[in-house]
Amino acid sequence: MTTDAGGIVGEFLSLKESTDADVLAMQCGDFYEFFADDAELVADELDLKVSQKSSHGSSYPMAGVPLSELTPYLTALVERGYRVAVAEQYETDDGHAREIERVVSPGTVVDPDGAEARYLAAVERDPDVDGDDEWGVAFAEVTTGRFHAAAVADLDDVRAELHRFAPVELLPGPGVRDDDDRLSELRESTDARLTLHESEAFAPGRARHRLGDHFGTQALEAVGLNAESAVAAAGAVLHYVDETGAGVLASMTRLGGLDPGGRVALDATTQRNLELVETMQGESTGTLLSTLDHTETAAGTRLLREWLTRPQRDRAELERRGAAVEAFARAALARDRLLDALDGTADLERLAARATSGSAGPRDLAAVRSALGRLPALASAIDGTGLADSPIPDVLARPDQAAARDLHDDLSEALAAEPPGSIGGDGGVIARGYDDELDELVAEYDEAAEWLDTLAEREKRRHSLSHVSVDRNKTDGYYIQVGKSVAGQVPDHYREVKTLKNSKRFVTEELEERERTVLRMEERREELERRIFEDVRKRVAAAAELLQDVGRAFAELDVLAALGHHAATNDWARPEFTGDDELRIEAGRHPVVEQTTDFVPNDLRMDHERGFLIVTGPNMSGKSTYMRQCALISLLAQIGSFVPADSAVLPLVDGVYTRVGALDELAQGRSTFMVEMQELSNILHSATEDSLVILDEVGRGTATYDGISIAWAATEYLHNEVRAKTLFATHYHELTALAEHLPRVANVHVAAEERDGDVTFLRRVREGATDRSYGVHVAELAGVPDPVVGRADEVLDRLREEKAIEARGSGGGERDTKQAVFDLSAGEFAAAAGGGGSDATGPEPGDGTARGPTEGTANATNDTLIESAAEDGAGTVMDTETEAVLEALRGTDVNETPPVELMATVQEWQRRLESGDD
Ligand code: ADP
Repeated sequence: MTTDAGGIVGEFLSLKESTDADVLAMQCGDFYEFFADDAELVADELDLKVSQKSSHGSSYPMAGVPLSELTPYLTALVERGYRVAVAEQYETDDGHAREIERVVSPGTVVDPDGAEARYLAAVERDPDVDGDDEWGVAFAEVTTGRFHAAAVADLDDVRAELHRFAPVELLPGPGVRDDDDRLSELRESTDARLTLHESEAFAPGRARHRLGDHFGTQALEAVGLNAESAVAAAGAVLHYVDETGAGVLASMTRLGGLDPGGRVALDATTQRNLELVETMQGESTGTLLSTLDHTETAAGTRLLREWLTRPQRDRAELERRGAAVEAFARAALARDRLLDALDGTADLERLAARATSGSAGPRDLAAVRSALGRLPALASAIDGTGLADSPIPDVLARPDQAAARDLHDDLSEALAAEPPGSIGGDGGVIARGYDDELDELVAEYDEAAEWLDTLAEREKRRHSLSHVSVDRNKTDGYYIQVGKSVAGQVPDHYREVKTLKNSKRFVTEELEERERTVLRMEERREELERRIFEDVRKRVAAAAELLQDVGRAFAELDVLAALGHHAATNDWARPEFTGDDELRIEAGRHPVVEQTTDFVPNDLRMDHERGFLIVTGPNMSGKSTYMRQCALISLLAQIGSFVPADSAVLPLVDGVYTRVGALDELAQGRSTFMVEMQELSNILHSATEDSLVILDEVGRGTATYDGISIAWAATEYLHNEVRAKTLFATHYHELTALAEHLPRVANVHVAAEERDGDVTFLRRVREGATDRSYGVHVAELAGVPDPVVGRADEVLDRLREEKAIEARGSGGGERDTKQAVFDLSAGEFAAAAGGGGSDATGPEPGDGTARGPTEGTANATNDTLIESAAEDGAGTVMDTETEAVLEALRGTDVNETPPVELMATVQEWQRRLESGDD
């Protein structure tokens, strides 16, 4: 774009060049105008009308909004992810000039629509801390003044935090930006708009200085904010908020960490898999949050979301919440009274931020007053009820009561009962009796107004006129309006100012004099009210921390009451925490699915002798639901909630890890198998003995043998090394043999019944492995064409009878059909006629469906294997161990042994042979 345009367009274009914002709104008198490309953009986004502006022989698109309407347009643009610069006009000696006063961005908009938190985030990477990358993250919410920062170990942790805070804007630091791949990886992990803020803002020295200045150096120590990366990220966030001129810096009163020590690790994948705040399809209904959210306030919803994505491990805190929830669950009447008292309370955390940024109006401060005024009602809703003897009164008592009362009283004295939305107009913002000067002025004004109000009557009487009224408008000021029929009878001192169709308007000297007084008084009143209001607003801003405390106490009561309500109305039970690793859930249910289904409850029992359950059962039988419900029960317990079960005795877990079918990654075109392995790898690295691991199929995305091998090895590793409590659903029936090899592994299955060819899902979890797969039946239910279902049945029958099947190729011709023989018992393909083309697909051992020959297709039959082994042995002097192994080998019926068991047996032989060598 050229900037040779002169005049107003030229000024616009050169201001635009000076900012990195996406859009510029420039004040021109009573309007904010957008020109050129920006006009087209806002017109498209916001449905504004575009007109043409001529300037120096060229014509430019132009769109505008009135001054008073900028905020909603700004908010709408910002919510669509744009950063908008706002240039204000100001008077100078020789006319006026314009300057960019602020840049509004998704993370720094102060008056957003909706109750959702809008976090601004920064991420910085510090290479080579102890030979490894270290990552720093910071999150700030300008609408509530929240601020959290910490260092985390790796990009996965960054992702988990991004998922938890769901920021709307993200500032990647120079250590992140220096690699395009890394930057795009980060971009994929979040819906936030990425803003490339200046690198210097991340410089650790400056950042530390800025943080110390703002929060105090002790605050940095108190939250253990030492890592350079975290300091850089936090400093950059502060800098950005300051730069964009949102004016809310002062509402950020407290620096918080991410408290990883007391928190349950929940990576982004798990948060998504368990559908805590968003379903796998990205919707907000049908989630755990939407199910539990009976809160009355927006702040309550925000806090519940925070709890759900950030479960606790602090037992005392959980007992405290649990006791409060229990009290709320039992005392229904008191609960309802308390919720009534909370209903409609303003969002104090947000109002505190508006007060500090200067954007709070009279009604905002009235809302602060009314919210503070609820404290006594809330206290009396608790007093003398079933809530009194619980931790609930302490929650309410946490904020400084005396300070809250004082501020409330101050506001009551200062503000009118129902102030107007803005200052100016008819006044009425400040209460009578608060300021003598204002009172005096208002009294005088009222007198003058009274004189004007009664003037018409007086004039009628005095001059015997009918049809007289006194009014005022912008152009004529005050006037006496007289009907046309009597216009000729007005006295001489009436001066005519306007003739209308049916009437004439007059003024008198006295009226003009009064008008001048009234206007002067109005001006003076507005000035006084503004000054007093500013004063009051500053006092509220100075109490930001108090308002945040009260706001958080309200939010906590709201959440605890909501959880109590849900527990009582859904028959949930208060969980008990064990010091050891015993886990016993009786009649557990899935908290979301039970809302819409006649749910069949199931038990779960795990302890130190039974820590790894392999869950088998037909497709659609309820394996996933069962495993997820167990994870959700554990998670609910660790936010302090009751749980959907008759009873639950639970260990305190340090993390919940899940891996389930990667639907969305598939949609994104990333290799599912790669994603699956990344997730598995993350679990194997991160889980500990105190974690809960949910694996819903592992190894499915690759060839059968790869798949089984990986699943097998992962099971061993989780069982032997990690020792995490694990639920593993698999379609590899072979894995059920593991129960015989690994002491803490047990099999359970979700039962189904088949009668007359129909499968009934019982949804009951029973001990032991399932004996077969019902995949073919599900295929039929799903509408797979009859010939395919018929053939699948045939294949399945033959599998059962012969334990071997010919894989059928895709060629179709009779001669081509026999390509490979899959020996189910041996677990391998044997060479066969037709020569196993690479596109051959055939049955897979686990569920009676299949895949083609894989690498390592057996060339030798089992018999030849055994013979050659025997030959090798002949003539050699053997130790007893080797002989014993050979004996065992001869005695093994390869056709009768499941492949996985065979693998274990062979491993055992190897071990024995090795020890025999020593
Ligand atoms: P799987 O993982 O075995 O394929 P899912 O867990 O996806 O099966 O469950 C299949 C369907 O059965 C789901 O629609 C689910 O709502 C329903 N379901 C699962 N468990 C239960 C239960 N215990 N009671 C009632 N319905 C259930």
